[in-house]
Amino acid sequence: MKHVVEVTQSSLTQMLLNGFEAFVIKHGNNKRSGIEFYASVYGDIELNEKDDECRSIVQFVSVDTSATMKSGSVESNEAAEDLKEQLAEQLGYYRLGNMHSHPYLLAEMSLDEVRKRGCEFSDGDIECFKQQLENYEADDAYVLEFVLTIKQLEKQNTSKDGRIDDNVIEFSVGNCKCFLRAQVFTKDDSEGLIESPTQLVCDYLEEFTHLTAEFGRVKAKPNRKRVLEYKPV
Ligand SMILES: [Zn+2]
Repeated sequence: MKHVVEVTQSSLTQMLLNGFEAFVIKHGNNKRSGIEFYASVYGDIELNEKDDECRSIVQFVSVDTSATMKSGSVESNEAAEDLKEQLAEQLGYYRLGNMHSHPYLLAEMSLDEVRKRGCEFSDGDIECFKQQLENYEADDAYVLEFVLTIKQLEKQNTSKDGRIDDNVIEFSVGNCKCFLRAQVFTKDDSEGLIESPTQLVCDYLEEFTHLTAEFGRVKAKPNRKRVLEYKPV
């Protein structure tokens, strides 16, 4: 089955607000900026059996405030996920999947490397999706996962902004480069993980490719390499 994943402008806004808050602002006892965030993703599902297509429309995302957020990993809280899924369903929204972020500060991996592998799901991510799928009995069970990668650059670089794959869009926010990736995973008989064909659709990003709004600059605080601050224009 082919999956089309539609990200509305309001859900994109939520992804970016939460992503940048986790990226720039120092949280709690963390010694540095650039921590990962974890969120669940909600909306509607349209099944088109004739075309063997499943369309997931993301209407909003909700950050899991009980997740343990660190710079190299994030751990979700299962009880929070169950609670939110059931509550959202009462209000008419399905839980479609999950998302997390991959933050890279200026010195932490070149842009080319981020584009090649940093914006992909990590081995740890894949292991985690496998475990999730093992909890489902149905043969046609799947998980939908998003990763928002944010890479701090010296200055804005919009040259490659645009779609880079069916399921990945590259775009700029000020002097930061972002990659939004969506992927549906299923399992096969040997419990391996399979990537189902997934198309990411986001009218807003495809129209503007980079966010034209005035956005200041994200930079390291004086004498601090790993603590960022935001300077408005
Ligand atoms: Zn990851």
